[in-house]
Amino acid sequence: MRAERPTRLVILGAAGRMGRVLLGSALDDAEIEVVGAVDVPSAREIGQDVGALVGVGERGVKLAASLEAVIDLADATVEFTAPAATVEHLEVSLARRKPAVVGTTGLNPVQLERVREIAREIPLFMAPNMSLGVNVLLKVLPIIAEALGSAYDVEVIEAHHHGKKDAPSGTALRLAEVVAEALGATLPERAVYGRQGIQPRQPGEIGMHAVRAGAIVGDHTVLFANEGEQIEVVHRAYSRQTFALGALRAAKWTAKQPPGFYSMRDLLG
Ligand code: NAD
Repeated sequence: MRAERPTRLVILGAAGRMGRVLLGSALDDAEIEVVGAVDVPSAREIGQDVGALVGVGERGVKLAASLEAVIDLADATVEFTAPAATVEHLEVSLARRKPAVVGTTGLNPVQLERVREIAREIPLFMAPNMSLGVNVLLKVLPIIAEALGSAYDVEVIEAHHHGKKDAPSGTALRLAEVVAEALGATLPERAVYGRQGIQPRQPGEIGMHAVRAGAIVGDHTVLFANEGEQIEVVHRAYSRQTFALGALRAAKWTAKQPPGFYSMRDLLG
């Protein structure tokens, strides 16, 4: 039997924190061929070999300054960049009919709507958190929230490294959203972002708190409490590789799907 050929990937944001880890994991995966890597034209790594960039020896692919230069080589793109860049890249993927995997968070409602529109034409996978653990939590949290009911206060506390741009994290928003929905509401109705001043907690609020410090990879706590007890559901990511491996798995899968908007739920079943 003929072995399946590797999935050809272009990695976007390859000089970034996630991009480098993703590149390292992709170069190490026999089922993946890295055919391109892209970062902004001003990145000092432009022109460097991708293997040299992550310390595994030259691989004959150089960091490019635009997606257009490399997209035709790819079966799919994977990206951890920034919201506006993500939408621009997806316009290119749409024009070339290429599947795309997006890990970028912090997209605004207008950007998200455009992403959904593009997903009608190409396979598009998007997840604010590519780890298996968080996605298991997304399944379990509605059960806990529904069983406890609205008499328990809910607070979501997340912590990330001091370079993270969006707050609260996309993962915190998604965790809070599934809890709100399990309680028969929506997150915009319930969310209170941080607290300051003189105002007691209102029933039904979902408090959202973002800590930014040092090198924290990503911690999320969903806290339920009434006057007699407290339950905390905690997830801690120890390394970015957790996200990178999930994204690569998503890329291999998405490259074979028909057009549509997919998330970890579709991948994990
Ligand atoms: P980072 O700032 O370290 O890296 C982002 C990279 O994207 C930078 O190198 C930047 O130059 C590059 N970039 C920006 N615009 C670009 C463009 N137009 N073309 C090509 N490259 C461009 O950030 P990070 O910590 O790696 O995080 C990136 C994103 O991924 C954030 O939105 C973060 O929240 C998200 N993230 C998601 C997950 C997940 O599991 N889904 C996990 C970690 C981080």
